[in-house]
Amino acid sequence: MTDRIDIISPVNLAQLDHILEKLRKPATYVAGATDIMVQKSRWEQAGTLIDLRTVQELVSTLEIGPEGILIGAALSFTDIIRYRIIQEKFPILVESCRQIGSVQIQNRATLGGNIANASPAGDTLPVLAVLNAELWIGPRLKDNFTKMSVDEIMTGPGKNCLQPNQYIAYIYLPFPEPTDPFWYFRKVGQRYSMAISKLSLAVLGWKHNNHIREIRICAGSVSPRIKRAVLTEKLLSNQELNSKVIEKAATQLMKEIKPITDIRSTHNYRKSTAGRLLQESLSTWARAGK
Ligand SMILES: Cc1cc2nc3c(=O)[nH]c(=O)nc-3n(C[C@H](O)[C@H](O)[C@H](O)COP(=O)(O)OP(=O)(O)OC[C@H]3O[C@@H](n4cnc5c(N)ncnc54)[C@H](O)[C@@H]3O)c2cc1C
Repeated sequence: MTDRIDIISPVNLAQLDHILEKLRKPATYVAGATDIMVQKSRWEQAGTLIDLRTVQELVSTLEIGPEGILIGAALSFTDIIRYRIIQEKFPILVESCRQIGSVQIQNRATLGGNIANASPAGDTLPVLAVLNAELWIGPRLKDNFTKMSVDEIMTGPGKNCLQPNQYIAYIYLPFPEPTDPFWYFRKVGQRYSMAISKLSLAVLGWKHNNHIREIRICAGSVSPRIKRAVLTEKLLSNQELNSKVIEKAATQLMKEIKPITDIRSTHNYRKSTAGRLLQESLSTWARAGK
């Protein structure tokens, strides 16, 4: 353990970027602290903590553009759940945020923290993947943020590709077009609240003339990194949903994912349940008829 821990609390992005430029030693970011507080070895060794919840732009930005919205990375899940525009345009994100921990955790925990923590069980990650979220990474270089996707930032369980001076500043969500897609998010855990996922599944899709025009599928807790099930998506593309197609897609998803056995669940349970969740989602979509 270091003798002392310095906490730096920048008030805005300009100050944060300036501090990072001058800092001689690596710093550890802290936002809601709901993950980092239980990773004792990390903050004990930290030396310097940079508090992102004091950075005005990161805690307060919700910018609505013509093609999407920009969310400050240090917005809490409670903030996200409450915004009308997010409820209307991104109900799948609201649903995943509602299922995180408990209301107390949602009040503190941030979207940026969920992404940077890079847990395969992070509940918003499959959802952000199907929404084609774009992560804006600071500090700005010549006034521009570096952009990356959720599957690019995550390099393995608990690991991200950010350099010590890099942080997630914003999450950009393009509006799903055309409007009103079918969406599905289901998390399977030990109990309803305060449960880390055994696995989860996010699906977003559009039909045209009763055939699937586009579908995006991403399962959580079934591989070291979050990535979309592109082969299952391809199999479903242009198909009419019937029981044979649905069964084929479930079998393909079970082949495509690589779950492990750990304290929360087993390889076999995760594989078969992922297939069943996909069947449930596609059957619901077939019945909904939109
Ligand atoms: C009781 C409990 C229940 C939980 N339940 C769930 C659950 O159901 N689902 C779920 O997904 N998670 C759950 N979590 C985990 C946690 O709440 C989430 O991962 C949360 O989103 C983390 O956000 P935070 O702001 O608290 O992150 P912090 O703890 O502040 O930080 C987490 C990590 O990300 C880094 N970091 C934070 N923000 C940034 C940024 N903007 N840029 C770069 N790096 C950054 C930090 O350095 C740290 O390494 C639970 C945690 C607890 C304690």
